[in-house]
Amino acid sequence: MSELKILEERKQFIQYGNADGCSGMKCDSESLSGAVSQRACVYCGARVVLNPITDAFHIVHGPIGCASYTWDIRGSLSSGSERYRNSFSTDLSEKDIVFGGEKKLAAAIGELAANHNPKVIFVYATCIVGVIGDDVEAVCKAAEKKYGIRVIPVKSPGFSGNKSFGYKMACNAIMELISPYKSGEKRQGVNILGEFNLAGEMWIIKNYLRKIGIQVVSSITGDASFDSISKAPQAALNIVQCAGSMTYLAKRMEEEMGTPYIKVSFFGIEDTSASLIRIAEAIGSQGSINRAKTFARTESDRLEAYLSKFQNNLKGKKAAIYVGGGFKAISLIRQFTAMGIKTVVVGTQTGKQEDYGVISGLVDKDTIILDDANPAELEMFMKQTGADILVGGVKERPLAYKLGIAFCDHNHERKHALAGYDGVVNFTEEINRSMNSPVWQYLKAPVSAKGALL
Ligand code: SF4
Repeated sequence: MSELKILEERKQFIQYGNADGCSGMKCDSESLSGAVSQRACVYCGARVVLNPITDAFHIVHGPIGCASYTWDIRGSLSSGSERYRNSFSTDLSEKDIVFGGEKKLAAAIGELAANHNPKVIFVYATCIVGVIGDDVEAVCKAAEKKYGIRVIPVKSPGFSGNKSFGYKMACNAIMELISPYKSGEKRQGVNILGEFNLAGEMWIIKNYLRKIGIQVVSSITGDASFDSISKAPQAALNIVQCAGSMTYLAKRMEEEMGTPYIKVSFFGIEDTSASLIRIAEAIGSQGSINRAKTFARTESDRLEAYLSKFQNNLKGKKAAIYVGGGFKAISLIRQFTAMGIKTVVVGTQTGKQEDYGVISGLVDKDTIILDDANPAELEMFMKQTGADILVGGVKERPLAYKLGIAFCDHNHERKHALAGYDGVVNFTEEINRSMNSPVWQYLKAPVSAKGALL
């Protein structure tokens, strides 16, 4: 097999660790044409954020193919309604494209209103709707008036930007949903932004906050409902877990509702402890701060003893990370370091300059840092560095298995929690089992020092 050449324009998106704090690295920009980025489209980005609202209805205004992106491949959990597990589509076909799809959309909203008594419907505009120019906003507005329910347009044609833009469009939709309630009084308590309750992680975090005496007003959007999310303007503080998708909403809420925000991360021991203490310091009483410190110390000590059992199995192993946002990558590097594992490749789909600055300070100088990678680059760098495991999402899984290396799903499809102290136990066991499985020795193909298959 011939060696891969990195496209000339892609070289500015790739750096080695400690290279001037990644200050010259290109990121947070459009994908390079022809580079086959791992990013999903604008509509998918918007759906990631809004789908976990458990009693919301989601109408995908477009061809049926866009609607294939459903709860089934996201796996956020609910303590109440299961409505969000259904998807609805206007199923636009050629005739609708020629004559317009507004009537079909109005009829779809009417059908839901008549049969299901919804409180809120999100209407996603997909590529073709952006092309033919259906006035989705006008249809939604008319439906709100007619049925007395919230019908919120999500302006998400796939071609209108990248996945990050979809996050923004979802945040705008949430602002539209909660803005009517912004005049209510503030109370002590936090909103958790950017936690989607995969495998029940929201419940783990809520439980920690309850233990240290911090009240949760609403969650956006894991295990949220129309009623719970409407209370969000009352919170005294927003804590932002998935910074890539939710910093924009946090900023808008700060500007328009006076709600300050802090960024947190509940992945790994160090970041979970630091986040709990920072939340308590930002909003809690002295009692909460003391409780947070005691809880963090007790859990850290417990897990240190637990992790030491895996030391021999994990020490000296190498990890590659390719995830959505910078905050998750940073937490993963820290957790791998605590486990004695070196991060040799790290990249994100939507990381910002400041994220890469932090990353460069955490990794060795020979670690490869890359933004908006494609499968060919990931393959080449994993081979070159001899990574033992890849941490990523559904699109990276086959890549790892084809290369004969272990894989850890740290995205939306997984069924076990990786957040918080509880997550550290699951993560360590999964990494240990996957990395040290005897199966890999039978699958390793010999490669040259430059990554070509021999
Ligand atoms: S890129 Fe366009 S057509 Fe494809 S899934 Fe996204 S919205 Fe639909």
